[in-house]
Amino acid sequence: RAKGGGRGGWSFFDEEMDLELRKRRALENDLRLAIAHGELEVYFQPIVNLAHHRVSCCEALLRWKHPERGYVSPAEFIPLAEETGAIGAIGEWVLRRACREAASWPDGIGVAVNVSAAQFRNAAVVRAVMEALTESGLPAYRLELEITESVLLTDNVATLATLHTLKRLGVRVAMDDFGTGYSSLSYLQSFPFDKIKIDQSFVRNLDITASSRLIVRSVVGLGRSLGMTVTAEGIETEAQMEHLRLEGCDEAQGYLFSRPVPAAGIHALFDRLRRQAA
Ligand code: C2E
Ligand code: MG
Ligand code: MG
Ligand code: MG
Repeated sequence: RAKGGGRGGWSFFDEEMDLELRKRRALENDLRLAIAHGELEVYFQPIVNLAHHRVSCCEALLRWKHPERGYVSPAEFIPLAEETGAIGAIGEWVLRRACREAASWPDGIGVAVNVSAAQFRNAAVVRAVMEALTESGLPAYRLELEITESVLLTDNVATLATLHTLKRLGVRVAMDDFGTGYSSLSYLQSFPFDKIKIDQSFVRNLDITASSRLIVRSVVGLGRSLGMTVTAEGIETEAQMEHLRLEGCDEAQGYLFSRPVPAAGIHALFDRLRRQAA
């Protein structure tokens, strides 16, 4: 409790905290029921190869349509799911949905699924991946798992063992939001990622700060010399795309090509992008 009680401001602050906490508890409860109530949906956003403008894969992005609040952003509910443990069931569900959808896409198009640190702390992630692949019939090489640096920050030895097991299955592994964590470079040394995704904050600042341009150039060089695919996130303009292509970036993802779309819209989207590339 803050000192200086008697100042109206403090008790107002406490009440507000209390309200926040209650709202959070309510949201946590709702989240636990979200799968059963059919409120979760997986959207897909294409990732385009910059050399021949073909879709190389699509990222699965979770959407929660809350009955009263409307769409709740994954940036808000994924951390909640991680804290409450709901992420286990939600993560497995996303893997299943994503693999099942991707099995109906053209053979050359893979699917990328975000896996959070909390899922990695549990060895069940390997079983979940194997089940999703078997059930859907999707070949392992068409599945990519995106992990952020926070995954590696946790239990390094066990996490690395899990990553190696997944790689042995033939699944690809990408480092997401590269450059935003604490020691990205040492992680590149400890695990053979197939891909690095340059965080969208660097792309957003490309024409504003020289340091962003330098960082993009270094990351592309680094990734290529380590034999990794380099993907840039958050491409919104032709100029950004052209810049990245000239820097030698392999792939790009962003609103310029498409926003994330529901599974039902993906084939029409593939058609549009194929026409645009031709
Ligand atoms: P992320 O994995 O880095 O995903 C990329 C985010 O950038 C997505 O936000 C996407 O909609 C957004 N984005 C794509 N292109 C553009 C663009 O051109 N401009 C801008 N401003 N944004 C763009 P979204 O869908 O809100 O997801 C936010 C984060 O939530 C994801 O970041 C990921 O970390 C997490 N997330 C989403 N779905 C899942 C999931 O199924 N499991 C887990 N563990 N995390 C997920
Ligand atoms: Mg991602
Ligand atoms: Mg990202
Ligand atoms: Mg992100």
